[in-house]
Amino acid sequence: MQVTNSDRSPGRPPLRTRRADQDRLSPIVESRTVNPANARTVVCPNCAAVRKGGKWSWGSVSVDAPRLQCPACKRIAESKPAAVVHIQNALIDRKREELFALIRNVESNTTQRDPLERIIAVSTDVISTSVFTTGEVIADRIAKAISDVSRATVTTRISDGIKGFVVG
Ligand SMILES: [Zn+2]
Repeated sequence: MQVTNSDRSPGRPPLRTRRADQDRLSPIVESRTVNPANARTVVCPNCAAVRKGGKWSWGSVSVDAPRLQCPACKRIAESKPAAVVHIQNALIDRKREELFALIRNVESNTTQRDPLERIIAVSTDVISTSVFTTGEVIADRIAKAISDVSRATVTTRISDGIKGFVVG
């Protein structure tokens, strides 16, 4: 746009006029900046899961897609499980290798379908072995799989906002 002196207040210096144009343009530039939380497509910088239309999955995305940590990586980073499976050691000790292979198999199948369903950690104390997970679906599947092969019962409870599955 051609700016002539007649458009400006009398006596206004040219430098001031250029600054006024920059100020007028800055809100437009800001509106083009993408907030990853609101972007349609984002990629997790940790695990490369992709969120499209609100759903996280494994997939490809353009290299310049905004980056946003997925809820599963956030839970892992903060050690905040969504669920836990407690398996009595009496069950584990009898078929240790078989049951751990089963747990890994459930993890592989479940995580492949949904990146938000993962195992965070496995720990053992004197009573039970605990499998901490990022989602309730994987915990439920692990509990059912262990229950099926060991003929143990599963009871559920919620403690500190974490869904617990007790097998044994
Ligand atoms: Zn992630």
